[in-house]
Amino acid sequence: MITIQDLTKDYITPHAKIRALNNINLEVEKGDIFGIIGFSGAGKSTLIRCLNRLEEPDSGKIIIAGQDITAMNKQHLKLARRKIGMIFQQFNLLDAKNVFENVAFPLKVSGYPKNQIKHRVEEILDLVGLADKAKSYPLQLSGGQKQRVGIARALSNKPDVLLSDEATSALDPQTTYSILELLKDINAKLGLTIVLITHELDVLKHICNNMAVIEQGKIVEKGSVEKFFSNPESDTAKRFISILQGFQAKRIYTEGGGI
Ligand code: ADP
Repeated sequence: MITIQDLTKDYITPHAKIRALNNINLEVEKGDIFGIIGFSGAGKSTLIRCLNRLEEPDSGKIIIAGQDITAMNKQHLKLARRKIGMIFQQFNLLDAKNVFENVAFPLKVSGYPKNQIKHRVEEILDLVGLADKAKSYPLQLSGGQKQRVGIARALSNKPDVLLSDEATSALDPQTTYSILELLKDINAKLGLTIVLITHELDVLKHICNNMAVIEQGKIVEKGSVEKFFSNPESDTAKRFISILQGFQAKRIYTEGGGI
């Protein structure tokens, strides 16, 4: 579903040139839930934002559902983006619009048949478990509910791919779990391909089948999530696992009556 070839991206600042992505090559299969993990500053956000060209890559190719995203002009890209949904850490909702209007908005913009919008919005709100919140405004919702609206908006135009830019980072663990369950459910029901970036091992473990590790703009490891946990190879993967083991050991010690 997604092929990334030799993708490179630099940021030029007054003081330096920062190579955010360095010759990235990745394949994501149709229907997969694919995670990209890395520490802060590794290049995760830049990579996921290049997939729909919210960031412009400097070189390389991105093919999604057989279409070369990197070669598209603005008009063509606008159409292609309808099939690439995206959800964000800060939800990106329109505060002055209620839940129904938030979900209807991308449909209106894309020229969805007017007489079918109501039905489509109701269908998606049902899917994300918010049928009873259609008239609420974002400020009246919890973080988890806001992210459900974000997911509903991203799904409105029936995308092939859903990109998740740290979508659960601002949520507490229980809410994170329920959002991950929702994404899993959507993946199973709609066969949607999901690519997510995260710095949380739990997210990978809970939801992803395959993954890649990014370190200083380079993919340093890729494969199944199972392999990552059983046989981490890169320094970053080993550091993630050892931090997790450190947390677990501390928890056992504390719960066992230690400090
Ligand atoms: P991550 O999402 O893994 O935290 P980012 O993709 O945000 O990493 O950043 C990768 C690198 O690019 C970092 O060194 C970061 O400081 C730099 N960077 C990101 N965005 C910009 C920008 N707009 N201008 C300059 N440097 C940036």
